[in-house]
Amino acid sequence: MASVVDKKVCVGCGACAATCPVEAITIKNGVAVVDPNKCISCGACVATCPVGAIKLK
Ligand code: SF4
Ligand code: SF4
Repeated sequence: MASVVDKKVCVGCGACAATCPVEAITIKNGVAVVDPNKCISCGACVATCPVGAIKLK
């Protein structure tokens, strides 16, 4: 399991990347990208995103 970004909703603010404790998120072309091999499904990014673009699946 890993967090998943809705690319149509993400505004590329970087808040999730700054919050992730394992640096699993990078911003590429203005959109957050999660590395599922790094993500530990902690949910911190989900709680931080101001537009609700990232969810745990
Ligand atoms: S769920 Fe946690 S570990 Fe996974 S990308 Fe979000 S903040 Fe990082
Ligand atoms: S916090 Fe939300 S809007 Fe900001 S980069 Fe992350 S997923 Fe996108």
